[in-house]
Amino acid sequence: MIFETLDTYGHEQVVFCHNKDAGLKAIIAIHNTVLGPALGGTRMWPYKSEQEALNDVLRLSRGMTYKNAVAGLNIGGGKAVIIGNPATDKSEALFRAFGQFVESLGGRYITAEDVGIDVNDMEYVYRETEYVTGVHQVHGGSGDPSPFTAYGTLQGLMATLNRKFGNEDVGKYVYAVQGLGHVGMEYVKLLKERGAKIFVTDINQALVDKAVSEYGAEAVGLDEIYDVPADVYSPCALGGTVNEQTLPRLKCKVICGAANNQLASNEIGDEVVKRGILYAPDYAVNAGGVMNVALELDGYNRERAMRMMRTIYHNLARIYEIADRDGIPTYKAADRLAEERIEKIGRLKLPLGRGRTRFQGRVRS
Ligand code: NAD
Repeated sequence: MIFETLDTYGHEQVVFCHNKDAGLKAIIAIHNTVLGPALGGTRMWPYKSEQEALNDVLRLSRGMTYKNAVAGLNIGGGKAVIIGNPATDKSEALFRAFGQFVESLGGRYITAEDVGIDVNDMEYVYRETEYVTGVHQVHGGSGDPSPFTAYGTLQGLMATLNRKFGNEDVGKYVYAVQGLGHVGMEYVKLLKERGAKIFVTDINQALVDKAVSEYGAEAVGLDEIYDVPADVYSPCALGGTVNEQTLPRLKCKVICGAANNQLASNEIGDEVVKRGILYAPDYAVNAGGVMNVALELDGYNRERAMRMMRTIYHNLARIYEIADRDGIPTYKAADRLAEERIEKIGRLKLPLGRGRTRFQGRVRS
């Protein structure tokens, strides 16, 4: 049954990690290493069953292959899950035991933070292995990726405006921004700097107040965000907000934001096209975070990171070309771009260590 599933999704390797004394139950899934070592975060979650944990890690690791490939990185796709409650089950021993398993893979899998894991947990993982990104800046880490993700989202937006309206004058358009967290607030700031009119909403009133007073945004209710007269809807909070209920209400011509998994289903993605809305594929738009941590692998540098964010513009432009070329929705065109890149680069059969990402290690302090 498990091998059948791996066959369907195309995974290379799945590692079950167990350490009774440390209370560790984890699964590392390496989906594809054609482009380079598999990079993807570790999620800690109180999964109801082992099957649920396995399904999640298989789905997420495959997603990382596509995301890393479209981002143009020399990086493959992987992910790990730790079964446990992040509020009660964390310990030094748990994360060090996990780090030993990561180390045992010799660099085929490189981990990072994800839901339920923070930089302090990564410090413990880092004691056992070099194959970890998202460590503290004092160890050569890259720090909070959110400003980069916001800037990358702006690049994706400009490519999408250009495609839809024939210009990328951000300030000419009206925006509906849902979620004013780490990424959303920074994104609002970037829009404001370019003179845009912005509607905002968030469940956190203090953040809404800040967007209004500092960036001149107009506050609307949580549900009202779908009805405002905006040219661009920018989901920067939850996934699945473009769905059967919300889509008929949206007046926008463009959907472009940082949230993961914005489309509730592929059918909704097809419906978006029918309604004449241009959807900027989420994982191509929000790749700033993974680009930022990937740069840690060969020596982090903020200037290089900012330059790399600008490639998101070109990645989106390429996706729109493929959508036109093949007559397919943009969400499918993003997948196709990833698959074509993996296939073409895979055929080059690069000698290991040239043109690939190698982990240089950091100066330990
Ligand atoms: P965050 O937790 O800092 O912000 C999310 C914000 O959304 C919070 O302020 C929260 O109050 C608000 N929110 C939650 N439910 C809401 C609702 N129903 N309506 C309106 N607002 C709501 O998270 P973040 O780091 O800013 O990330 C935002 C999104 O972008 C997430 O989907 C995340 O997965 C994705 N993303 C983030 C990064 C990154 O670098 N941080 C990278 C890639 C993708």
